[in-house]
Amino acid sequence: MSHGDGDHERFAHYVQKDKIMASALDGTPVVALCGKVWVPGRDPKKYPVCPMCKEIYESMGSGGDDKGGKGGKGGDK
Ligand SMILES: [Zn+2]
Repeated sequence: MSHGDGDHERFAHYVQKDKIMASALDGTPVVALCGKVWVPGRDPKKYPVCPMCKEIYESMGSGGDDKGGKGGKGGDK
């Protein structure tokens, strides 16, 4: 049981995969879609998706043509 990080830690936030990879390498914090800054280190599958991240993600899910987009490899929706 851990304390001190707040409710944000109980959610799986959406972060660009490449940033997660970079974070895993050097331990730098990442910024989630909702603005949450943290160092991912836990299995996101154990947590419910952050509702704010989900809303943002879905709102930009269609129409955008940025590379990567949604449904990319390893995407965990
Ligand atoms: Zn979030």
